[in-house]
Amino acid sequence: MRLLILLPLLSHLLTQCFALSDYFWFISDIHFDPTYGSASESCREDADLMKLGEFGSVDCDAPWRLAESAIHGMHLNGGGAQFIVWAGDSVPHTREDTLSEEKVLTGIQKLTDQLRLEFPRTPVYPLLGNHDYHPRNQLPGKTNNIYESLATMWQDWLNEGGRNPEVLETFRKGGYYTKIMVELDEKIRALVLNTNLYYLANEATDGIDDPGEQFAWMEEVLQGATQEDEKVHVFVHIPPGTDFRSQQNSRFNRLIVKYADVILGIYAGHHHFDSFRIYYDEQNAEPVAGMFISPSVSPLKGYLDDSIPHNPAIRKYIFDRYKFTLQDYEQFYLLLDLANSQNNTAWQILYSFSKTYGVKNVDPANLVIVKDGFKEFANEDFHKYYERKYVNLRRGYVPCDCDCKEQEICAIGNLNRTQYDACVVEADCSGLNGAGTLNAASLGAVLVAAVFIFH
Ligand SMILES: [Zn+2]
Ligand SMILES: [Zn+2]
Repeated sequence: MRLLILLPLLSHLLTQCFALSDYFWFISDIHFDPTYGSASESCREDADLMKLGEFGSVDCDAPWRLAESAIHGMHLNGGGAQFIVWAGDSVPHTREDTLSEEKVLTGIQKLTDQLRLEFPRTPVYPLLGNHDYHPRNQLPGKTNNIYESLATMWQDWLNEGGRNPEVLETFRKGGYYTKIMVELDEKIRALVLNTNLYYLANEATDGIDDPGEQFAWMEEVLQGATQEDEKVHVFVHIPPGTDFRSQQNSRFNRLIVKYADVILGIYAGHHHFDSFRIYYDEQNAEPVAGMFISPSVSPLKGYLDDSIPHNPAIRKYIFDRYKFTLQDYEQFYLLLDLANSQNNTAWQILYSFSKTYGVKNVDPANLVIVKDGFKEFANEDFHKYYERKYVNLRRGYVPCDCDCKEQEICAIGNLNRTQYDACVVEADCSGLNGAGTLNAASLGAVLVAAVFIFH
């Protein structure tokens, strides 16, 4: 009898021991609003404050119940994560005069405490977002009270009992750090960057070529990784692209391409929506690296993309246990309406990249296959991509006409502004606008039309 009880446990342990893959969580853009439901400072002007749900509203940033639920959702869907990446933007979108350094730090402290409570033994890699500063976006390339305070708040994660003093040093200096995550046949390194230093809205670093000397340091780290045969995961809050100043964007992207051989993946948040990007080699011929952009926990609509609402999201990245190469990711979400109406706070899988798009893994070559498939007229995968981009709100169809589709595809394959603009100009929508629009009703009909929008 006792053996019967033990069998499932033994089977679970054996599966764990012989599993070829492992995973980590990526949680970003929580934007926790401590005033939700009272002053509701983060809510949009048109929000109906009498109808705010307990777990959040698409008109506001996250209440505590949602932040807590997201962290608990990671626990329930995989408490055995190898590590967690907490990719920043913990502070709400509110008027600047309602915030202060103290309020910024208090909000981050509350989330830090909750992560420690739920994951007391899991390594956490925290990042700075453009909202994790006062005034917002103005993160400097030099030491200041916020970097100092966060270095102290996070020192057990960053310094691991005194094993990584240089991590604290670079974090205090510029909000960035690197450390070895695990030593297998080769060492696996985390490169955690403060890309807010390159943000167009950051006046504190405007006119400085290499704020915080992060570029020089980044190159040193990547060069060292090449010499030492290490492999590197790159974590950023703001992804390179149109949010970066153009020169710094080019410099960042050149570094990624130059050292692509050692880079396992680039992981970002900030956009609040779900997408991916592909880096090509200098000849723009071969894909060399993939960047993955995770959607936000905060369901607030309308700040980074015109008023398209979405559900709260967290992401699980699955990697090869022995090589640490990225295999797939699973996007989890909370159906906000159900949480509010029925207290159902189950975080469910929305989709897995490889299963949805029918590819073996998420290496750069497979990302290209998926992206190129999108180009087909009325491609069903593109329809799935666009729905998932907005985390399946189930509040009606979000249209994406030919111009919109072109912009999406050009953004995936072009991280440089000039190349992106050229791509959009080159793609030809003439005569196809509207007809290229996908929706569930017309999908079957347009699928039979073997017309290609792109060349
Ligand atoms: Zn954000
Ligand atoms: Zn951000």
